[in-house]
Amino acid sequence: MTWLDMRNRVGTGAIAGAAVTVVAAGAIVFALVGRGSDASAQSSLTVNLPPPASDRVYASPVARGRPIVVIDAGHGGRDPGATSVSGQVREKELTLILAQALRDELVKRGRVRVAMTRDDDRYLALDDRAAVARRLNAAMFVSIHIDSAPNPLARGASVYSLSDVASDAEAAQLAARENGDFAGAQGHGTVETMLADLAMRSQMSASADLASRLVNKAAGRVELRPNPHRFAAFHVLRRADAPAVLFEAGYLSNADDELVLRNPADRSKMVLALAQAIEADVASHSRR
Ligand code: ZN
Repeated sequence: MTWLDMRNRVGTGAIAGAAVTVVAAGAIVFALVGRGSDASAQSSLTVNLPPPASDRVYASPVARGRPIVVIDAGHGGRDPGATSVSGQVREKELTLILAQALRDELVKRGRVRVAMTRDDDRYLALDDRAAVARRLNAAMFVSIHIDSAPNPLARGASVYSLSDVASDAEAAQLAARENGDFAGAQGHGTVETMLADLAMRSQMSASADLASRLVNKAAGRVELRPNPHRFAAFHVLRRADAPAVLFEAGYLSNADDELVLRNPADRSKMVLALAQAIEADVASHSRR
């Protein structure tokens, strides 16, 4: 029985008295107690879950009450992401270094509070990542990745915002890769989906605004791809319930980009541009 089956059956009253217990081992145990003549009948079902993402909020004292920005370091644990052209570094390592540097910069500047989906080398499902933003009622979700392409000359950073329709075939392929098991898993045609789509439209336009700001702040300071703002249907962005973008910091399949991404001074420039764009976007929303 899947989790969804279970929820549906509980929702229609088919299973009365279902208890859900979260245990420390990272599993949910369902204890099902039947009603009627066989009230003593019990069964249990254990569903293994990945370790939960962290809800820790990082902030300087001056940022009390400020909006929360969730930074998502792509990949992690058994999911290494792309490997660099030299073979010496993996995407999951650089995304974490960038995410930590961005967190530290934002906390130092004191205009927002910050949460991270992961602050170490752990595997997280896409839904666990987006759920951090929902639980914290975050003002923004920024997922950090590093691209890889068959063409070794492809280089530069790009920013993806959520859309139903991909801006180009490459963007569609990237979203399919990042979505993994979730590709095509979206429901269609139900009332729930239609209501969600209405909220999604404003989320998409806010995400596109954020992506434009990121591109504008990065221009001239960070190597960018041609047409750096792209669109695709990323599951992790859709589920964040906040303006959400996916920042591809460059190409690990390109030797120059690998050098840039492994150079702390170059990373600092990139992180500063990201921090300024994030602050400008948060400020624009709080003025409304
Ligand atoms: Zn990635």
